[in-house]
Amino acid sequence: MLSLTIDEKEIQVEEGTTILEACEKAGSHIPTLCYDKRLLPFGACRICIVEVEGTRQKFTPSCTTPATNGMVVKTTSADIIKARKTILELLLINHPLDCPVCDKAGECQLQDLVYEYGVAENRFKGEKSRLPIDHQSHLIERNLNRCILCGKCARICDELQDVAEVSFVNRGIRAKIGTDFDRALNCEFCGQCIDICPVGALTSKLFKYKARLWELQNVQTICPFCSVGCHLNLGIKDNKIFQATSNGGNLCSKGRFGFEYVHSQQRLTTPLIKKDDQLIEASWEEALDLIAKKFKEIPANNLAGLCGSRLTNEEVYLFQKLMRAGLQTNNIDNAGSYAYAGLMGLKQSLGSAGMTISLSDIDKADCIVLLRCDLSETHPTIGIKVNLAVKRNEAKLIIINPKNIKMSKLPNLSLIHHPKTEIALLNSIINVLINEGLVDKDFISKHTEGFGELKKSVEKYTPQEVSKITGIDKELIKNAAKTYGNSQKAIILISTGLNLPGEEVKLAQSAANLALLTGNLGKEGAGIGILLEKNNSQGTVDMGTISGFLPGYQEITDYKIREKFEQVWNVKLPSFRGLSALEILEKGKVKGLYIVAENPIETYPDSDQIKQALESLEFLVVQDMFLTQTAKLADVVLPACAFAEKEGTFTNVEGKVQKLNMALSPIGKSKSDLEIFITLSKLLGYEINYSNSAEVMDEIKSLVPGYSTPDKGTQRLKWKFVPQTFEKLPVEDKYYPFLLLTGHTHFHSGSMSGKSPALMEVCQESIVEINPEDAKALEIENEELVKVSSREAGIKVKTKIIRKSPKGVVFIPHHPGKNVLSLIKKDYLGPTRVRIEKIEG
Ligand code: SF4
Repeated sequence: MLSLTIDEKEIQVEEGTTILEACEKAGSHIPTLCYDKRLLPFGACRICIVEVEGTRQKFTPSCTTPATNGMVVKTTSADIIKARKTILELLLINHPLDCPVCDKAGECQLQDLVYEYGVAENRFKGEKSRLPIDHQSHLIERNLNRCILCGKCARICDELQDVAEVSFVNRGIRAKIGTDFDRALNCEFCGQCIDICPVGALTSKLFKYKARLWELQNVQTICPFCSVGCHLNLGIKDNKIFQATSNGGNLCSKGRFGFEYVHSQQRLTTPLIKKDDQLIEASWEEALDLIAKKFKEIPANNLAGLCGSRLTNEEVYLFQKLMRAGLQTNNIDNAGSYAYAGLMGLKQSLGSAGMTISLSDIDKADCIVLLRCDLSETHPTIGIKVNLAVKRNEAKLIIINPKNIKMSKLPNLSLIHHPKTEIALLNSIINVLINEGLVDKDFISKHTEGFGELKKSVEKYTPQEVSKITGIDKELIKNAAKTYGNSQKAIILISTGLNLPGEEVKLAQSAANLALLTGNLGKEGAGIGILLEKNNSQGTVDMGTISGFLPGYQEITDYKIREKFEQVWNVKLPSFRGLSALEILEKGKVKGLYIVAENPIETYPDSDQIKQALESLEFLVVQDMFLTQTAKLADVVLPACAFAEKEGTFTNVEGKVQKLNMALSPIGKSKSDLEIFITLSKLLGYEINYSNSAEVMDEIKSLVPGYSTPDKGTQRLKWKFVPQTFEKLPVEDKYYPFLLLTGHTHFHSGSMSGKSPALMEVCQESIVEINPEDAKALEIENEELVKVSSREAGIKVKTKIIRKSPKGVVFIPHHPGKNVLSLIKKDYLGPTRVRIEKIEG
């Protein structure tokens, strides 16, 4: 520790602390313009100058100077104030004083400092900047006349986002922040540059001339898109969201610009009932009475419920309670049993169905494995963490993926394998680890069981053999094994979701085998992260909407567990296991279905079959925000609230239960899912009575391990190796020569993003990424409309010729306008094969 004196106050700080950080700790406020704690120190604006006793220079920039032992620092002498005023005068020479029309007014750091330091006159004269304003770029307006060249936008774009879309161009008084050739922005549109800009040089087009910042009421809540659960600060006026900001954290394009779906004209505002094949407006009483009547008529084992991850924990909990206790059926599921089955894989191997790490462990790891994981697209702010871990902490990065990803440009070991050969590859890495003695014998003997079987099971997966299966050079496989095996703290991240169909359980258990073999579990900076898809995917499965399980993954068939729930719920529960989501969506399996916040026709594979199954139902209820393709088939549609219109909690990917705050009154006659379930329960004769979500959470805490007391799963004494076998791929098919990969883009992840005009503006169309050699062979041009067909279906998309995918592999990201999953058969084993045809005329 270092001791220093700041404004006559003695403090201790750690080695490596800057004077600025030490001053913050001492409670001495230092003004800054170019400083941000997320970025490397830059020292451009010099407004943070202080006086350090005994140094030759008069002033010292505090943001770039390390504190040293015995240092004596003054932060507010008359000379410092005078110098800071001069700096502000210099900044104001070119800066337009257009605060009345600047959207940053009220939050502009330059404006605040000019006011604080009373810079009413400027002794320096000069011309105001007259650079053209960029109105062309999507979502972001760039007015470089207001720019003070702090470089924050360029630095965050480079350091955190790894995009480097803008940078300093020109020199001297002509210096500016620009793109190459002054073109419009063509980036990820994360808007981090807007958030970090201390002045009004970069502003959101969504906010332009809509409100003054001081008119907004700020409500803290949680992003409704992916499972990272970033904190949002919603700016509200007249019951409308005007902006979403991050309060100094990071957000991606969806979090910052995706909120507009809440105010979409397409929102459902009233219940609808199908009459003569038409959905017509109805009252809540009519709609709920009809549902209660029909659900009572259908035998319990022919009823089912399907639930999406948009709901809060409290709502999901009530949904499954209503279905089990009120309707006496255990046919309840969500995407969990199918797309998030990796969680159950981890439960079998490690005893706990969740990440074994927290996100802060990524900062401490010295090796990170991305297994089928394109973080920049699926979990962008976790991508930032990995990017910084590699660039700043020099963590080793191993990418195991069937195609190149954005992070492939970081220093890494890229194992680009043939699709669906991951299990063979992981077994081969295990084979090398064992043969090279890179295993933690002590850890294995103390904490694991089943090593013998694992060892035997991987014997045939030599790098030489697996090289033939995966297409990866055997030396690269050995290198990856040695890199992982020689690391002290290694993390494996796996993305999962409906858009990434695959061998969920096998992948998770293979990852667990690797971690157990090398002792990378139960310690800081090491473990496994299954990155679920949606905002409350983890909560949805925790709350008991996963086939066969009561809340907290407690087996429904275990009578002792059932008894515990029966006592609290005061009802006898059905004991049968219940159908999974894929079974529920099979024609003829059930007669009545209640779908909440889910659109299986668009988000599950095999959409044609699912549509037929839904059409064949006796009675279908859909509760959603929009009239989705699934809702159009319903007998009753109930309008539900958006995230900003309700309270409750979401559980993020690392298991943090985060509070959602109500920012808006519900639009039209829509109601929160919680209110709908409570009202419906009365009509069904099993009344569930809670006055708010906090009361529901109290009950959850009493029944669900991990929500009141920590889940003890990962602390159990013996973890289990579960050997995995690689299934041979189906033979090649000359009529369908390409292998199809699907996944998310950072702009879209489900129906909500499709109703956000800003996200649709930057990513309007679905595309197919195709390797240049394949495009040439097919005589296909870039951006040409083509038909991609599998044996199941065909869709029309535009081509994007790019080297990301290897030859013979194409990638179609999910887009709300195109159902790429219709191409995939739900019970397929190997990768889906497709063909690509030109569309004539
Ligand atoms: Fe929202 Fe996920 Fe983006 Fe964070 S990373 S802003 S949670 S979509």
